[in-house]
Amino acid sequence: MKRLAILGSTGSIGTQALEVVTANPGLFQVEVLSAHSNSTLLIEQAKKFKPNAVVVTNEAKYREVKDALLMLPIKVFTGEQALADVVQWDTVDIVLGAIVGFAGLHSTLAAVSAGKRIALANKETLVVAGELVMKLAAEKNSAIIPVDSEHSAIFQCLTGEDANTIEKVILTASGGPFLGRKPNYLVNVKASHALQHPNWTMGAKISIDSATLMNKGLEMIEAKWLFDLRNEQVDVVVHPQSVIHSMVQFTDGSVKSQMGQPDMKLPIQYALAYPKRIPNNYKRVDFKENSKLTFEPVDYKTFRNLAIAKEAMIRGGNAPCVLNAANEVVVHAFLQNKVGFLEMSDMIEKTMESVSFIEHPELEDYRNSDTEAREYAAEFVKKSQLSMY
Ligand code: NDP
Ligand code: MG
Repeated sequence: MKRLAILGSTGSIGTQALEVVTANPGLFQVEVLSAHSNSTLLIEQAKKFKPNAVVVTNEAKYREVKDALLMLPIKVFTGEQALADVVQWDTVDIVLGAIVGFAGLHSTLAAVSAGKRIALANKETLVVAGELVMKLAAEKNSAIIPVDSEHSAIFQCLTGEDANTIEKVILTASGGPFLGRKPNYLVNVKASHALQHPNWTMGAKISIDSATLMNKGLEMIEAKWLFDLRNEQVDVVVHPQSVIHSMVQFTDGSVKSQMGQPDMKLPIQYALAYPKRIPNNYKRVDFKENSKLTFEPVDYKTFRNLAIAKEAMIRGGNAPCVLNAANEVVVHAFLQNKVGFLEMSDMIEKTMESVSFIEHPELEDYRNSDTEAREYAAEFVKKSQLSMY
């Protein structure tokens, strides 16, 4: 029986993880649940899964959650530090990091410091501070198992292989809802349209990142740190069907891929149960139905976010941290129709030019770079035509 701390339990990944738990009552038990503001769902989840503790990081929601769970033997905490404390408890075996954005860094680092097994969905943690997180994980003997489908695929392809035989990894990108579109079309697209991903249903932030291809840029950086790769070993190809979740090319020219239905429950259950595989009766890939698996190069010119992210990866230091912070700010603004789709890239680029470069950042530098980048990006958002209305 594995005892889980599910951070971000009210989100897209969090709720799917709880479906995996429900389907496997003999394997998993919920020890901790956390959410930020969605107190209603957190309370409902707490009543159903009866964890030892819940953390609602937004302090304004604490009283409501505390009162609702008063009659149950469930501890209720609030604040970012409380979350960092509970993930270190002896009663926690696996921490599922499914908080969105930089906000997931602190609790992930705490879990890594305590040598916990991490099932990591929160890619921004590795984008911001991948070098530091992976170094700490090695020191503390904390295994980080990816939940992101591409990285889960690469992880599965690498099982039983010598890391020295990797020539490169090839991340597949569905291309998102605007595959094949050009800037003259993208200039007018709104959040409601960008949120409609053809293959996956996900949280709002990652859905926009998928539409701009920033998601694939973040995933390149995530792959670099997870698998200890050089920049030139991380490649991307568009594969609109999302059946091949990613590939590894070895030094003898062999290519391994992992395939499956586009269903996040698969990588979630893989990460939670690793090294075991849990049988299930989810829909299978039908190769007679999916007779066409196609590939094409990415359009870096139109989807500039991917080019900018790749540049940040090559630059290193605090550049990916700044990229991530600026992206979080502009995506938030785009979701509120305060900036245009193409404007997001301009603002990220300008933020990256504005924040001073730090070649070898420490944790404090990442925190400061994140704050500074958010301030610059917020200024650029304010100046947008759309923000004026
Ligand atoms: P959602 O927006 O659906 O959920 C985010 C979760 O994080 C919610 O539980 C939310 O709580 C919580 N949260 C938000 N802000 C904070 C904060 N400041 N402090 C603490 N908790 C917070 O996101 P997803 O589930 O889509 O994504 C989660 C992570 O997984 C992201 O990093 C994403 O990139 C990654 N991922 C997601 C995939 C997907 O299919 N969804 C696929 C691959 C990776 P509340 O509900 O209360 O606001
Ligand atoms: Mg992914």
